[in-house]
Amino acid sequence: MRKNIVAGNWKMNLDLNQGIQLFNEIQELLKVELSGEQEVIVCAPSIHLSSLAKSLEGSSKLSIGAQNCHQADSGAYTGEISASMIASSGAEYVIIGHSERRLYFSESNELLAQKLDVVLKNGLFPIFCIGETLEQRNGGTYFDVIKEQISEASFHLDGANYSKLILAYEPVWAIGTGLTASPEQAQEIHLFIRTLLAEKYGQTLADNTTILYGGSCNPKNAAELFAQADIDGGLIGGASLKARDFVDIIKALN
Ligand code: PEP
Repeated sequence: MRKNIVAGNWKMNLDLNQGIQLFNEIQELLKVELSGEQEVIVCAPSIHLSSLAKSLEGSSKLSIGAQNCHQADSGAYTGEISASMIASSGAEYVIIGHSERRLYFSESNELLAQKLDVVLKNGLFPIFCIGETLEQRNGGTYFDVIKEQISEASFHLDGANYSKLILAYEPVWAIGTGLTASPEQAQEIHLFIRTLLAEKYGQTLADNTTILYGGSCNPKNAAELFAQADIDGGLIGGASLKARDFVDIIKALN
C-alpha cells in the first residue's frame, strides 16, 4: 500500500548519547505536532539501533532502520552486520544501495540484489536507493542508468516481495551538495520508475509502491517536492540531524 513516508539517514554521525537525545527530541515534537498520516523512519548507525528501540514509545509514529547490512546470513565476515542481527535489534527497515555504498564500497547491482533478498528473508523492509551521477545526467543517460539499477538489482523479486520495497530516487549530484533536483526533474524520474514497475509487475503494484525523493531536501523545498504526483515523501540526510528541521520536513508531507 502506497504510504507517505519521511525517512532520516543519519549516516556516520552522532555518538550514542547524541543519537538518543535527537531521537527523543524528534519523538516529542512528533507527539505534539504531527496530525497527518505520515510515517517516519530513522535510519541510524547499527550500533545505536537497540538503544533507540528501547527509547521508542508504544504510541510513537516512529520506526527504526539500519543503513546497510551484509548479504550473507551469517559467517566469517569480521566487522559486518547481518539482517537477522538488525531485525533482532528492533529495527524494521534497512537502506540498501545508497549511493555512498555504491561509490565508496563498490556495491554493484548484483550485490544489491543479494542484499535485498537477505533483508526480505529476515522480515525487514528495504529502502532501495537508485540515482544517477552528474556526469550521467549531463550525458543524457540517466533514464538508462535508473532502469539498469532497478532491473538488475530488484526485478528478480516476485510481486509479493516487491510490494515490501520502498524506493528512493536520490540523484547523486543532489546528495549533501545543497543542489536539489527541481520538482519537475524529480517528478519526471518518479513517474518513469512507476512506469517501469507497471511494465514489470502491473499497474496496481506500481500505484501502491512508495517512492521517496532524496537529495538536499530541507524545510524550504520539501513541500514543493512532496506535492508532485509521484513523490510520496523523502529520504533526508543532513536535515535529519536537526529535530526541528526534520519534523518540519515531515509536516510538509500531507
Ligand atoms: C541521503 O544521504 O540519503 C541524502 C539525501 O542526503 P542529503 O539530504 O544530505 O542530501
